[in-house]
Amino acid sequence: MGVEIVIVDDDPMVGNLSLEVLKDAGFSAELVTDSRLALSTVKDRKPRLVMLDILMPGIDGLSILHQIKSDPQTAQTKVAIVSAKTFKAEMERAKSYGADMFIKKPYDLKDFPKQIKTLIGEPQGKGGTSQKTTVKVRAWGRREADSTPCLCAEALGRLFILDASKGAAALGAEILKEGRHKEAWLLITHFHLDHVSGLGALPLLREESFHLHIIGPSEPEKKITALLKEAMSKSMGTDKRPIKAKIQVHEVREESYELAQGLRISPFYANHPTTTLGYVLELGGRRIVYCPDTELYGEAATALQDYDEKVGRMVRAADLLIHDGRYTDADYAQHRDEGHSSVVNAAEFAADNEVRYLLLIHADPSYPDAVLEKMEADAKAALEGKGVQIPCAVVRDGLALEI
Ligand SMILES: [Zn+2]
Repeated sequence: MGVEIVIVDDDPMVGNLSLEVLKDAGFSAELVTDSRLALSTVKDRKPRLVMLDILMPGIDGLSILHQIKSDPQTAQTKVAIVSAKTFKAEMERAKSYGADMFIKKPYDLKDFPKQIKTLIGEPQGKGGTSQKTTVKVRAWGRREADSTPCLCAEALGRLFILDASKGAAALGAEILKEGRHKEAWLLITHFHLDHVSGLGALPLLREESFHLHIIGPSEPEKKITALLKEAMSKSMGTDKRPIKAKIQVHEVREESYELAQGLRISPFYANHPTTTLGYVLELGGRRIVYCPDTELYGEAATALQDYDEKVGRMVRAADLLIHDGRYTDADYAQHRDEGHSSVVNAAEFAADNEVRYLLLIHADPSYPDAVLEKMEADAKAALEGKGVQIPCAVVRDGLALEI
């Protein structure tokens, strides 16, 4: 079971006092007195905040801080450093490792819960455990021209497929092999070929017992049903078996739709040459934003270009942002106003909107691996330049992530 706060303190008296105060303020919290168990507890409980005593036997607080902030599984967890003495050198080190707050011992009992709330907000869930669900994200994709990775997100026993690009065939085959799902939602952002080129080859379509909801936009001159038919016939490939699944098509626009309890999608219009959507997906308390084809203007935005600001409001504090990161900064200069973003603009946008995890998708298919690595490094540098610690990666075939 998750908790909101993990307290790491070798002194049980002080630790229990912190525990009581935080519980009285409505947070769920757990005390760890053996510093060697700190990291495994953090991974297991997935707290929003870790309070770390700096001077402890076993492993010291700074090493634990460093481990938490450098592990992609825990890097987004906030860490408050607690200390009776303030040694300047240690504070500097804690800061450089990514500490989010410093609290001086002994606590001011009145101020202490307030300080915590300024860092992580109000308690979630009544005096209980954190109700946030784990979302699993995976990617399939081949590095070929017109190939964009195909992603799926799973939570609460539900499956979402994000666009039907070429990787959809492999994704579908894996889903059938696993046998956990008989129903899925396919979210289509738009009908450019690289986003539907795997549609006709999606193995789920040939399963009589499968129920597929296809969600996407219509274009001004063409309804979604016609667009799907066209995409389907173009992408049948070698699989000529008849389509047997139950398929329901839902045309959506910039609105918010409750698909089931605890499950909501809010499409929004992206900045891309054809009618293109991005999706905010809310699943059991988690918010995932998927926006693979869109152009952020970044600092070059003119007064009339308010796209970044508008979408920033949708993206704000999302648990995961999967965003267009097609170009290196240098190449983007040659591709302005074509409807794709640079990794640096995407990273700065994620930082400005306090996103918790960033995946960059849709890198130009002509880029070799070395360029993808450089893009990842550039994005990380841009995040650091904004003073934030947001885990970030370029989507590649085989990516598997739990948040
Ligand atoms: Zn496109």
